[in-house]
Amino acid sequence: MSMRDTRPGATRRVWRPHGWELRLRWAWAEHRSVDGRAKIVPWDAGRLGGRGAGGSRGRNREGVRIVSLSCPRCGSAALPPSAWSSSWRCAKHGDIYPLRQVQSLSPEGLAGLLRNAVVPVMLPWPLPDGWLVTGFAAAGDERSGTRACAVALSGPNPVGGPGEMLVICEELGVGLGANCAGLEGPDPGADFPAGLPDAQVEFGNHEFPLWHVDAPGRAAFVGEVMGTWLWVVLWPDTAGTLLVEPMALRDLRDPGQDLDLPFGARSPRLPG
Ligand SMILES: [Zn+2]
Repeated sequence: MSMRDTRPGATRRVWRPHGWELRLRWAWAEHRSVDGRAKIVPWDAGRLGGRGAGGSRGRNREGVRIVSLSCPRCGSAALPPSAWSSSWRCAKHGDIYPLRQVQSLSPEGLAGLLRNAVVPVMLPWPLPDGWLVTGFAAAGDERSGTRACAVALSGPNPVGGPGEMLVICEELGVGLGANCAGLEGPDPGADFPAGLPDAQVEFGNHEFPLWHVDAPGRAAFVGEVMGTWLWVVLWPDTAGTLLVEPMALRDLRDPGQDLDLPFGARSPRLPG
């Protein structure tokens, strides 16, 4: 049900039965910058970004396509590696792991994220009542793997109205969690942690403490789980009441899980 032109440099529209339309650029060049903020990447890595990830395996292996990447610390355009730097860069923050959203909210899109994840991909499970999974974002590239990831959820705020949540796992210094919390970052701060913990998460039959950090217009909690930062950021700040009880987490990378995730419309809070 689809057509493509495999000539180098040719651009074709690929129509899919479920109505998605992909614009693919078939080119065999190495990484090439487009308008200073896009990059042609091998499809396997590119599954994390671009328009309408997914599709047949055979097509994926051959194709490359254009995705937009941003700085995990500030959201500005990520500059691709060049003759002068082997790293992605932000004009303000220097070397960075470029951030992209997983475009396909589906088991296939999630599988693409999990394949390259160096850090846990943490999901509250069971989900809070009425909450849906509403996005994934990943920072890293095909060389480094995913060094930070954000799982977005949306659902009812326990005290009324809609709520949004981001659960972020990241290596030290990436800065995605602090950015989502509206903080300078990249980590929680030199005086962290101060005082007794304010919340707990449960993972693998262990409990891990989280501390509340002051964040503008939202509730933000952070702690260390399995050697990585774990941030939980909620909007509005009253949705932080979801953490009155310890929140159980799953690492979606762990084998043997067959979670039937309910996906919803993409969260406006998802970075990237
Ligand atoms: Zn930046």
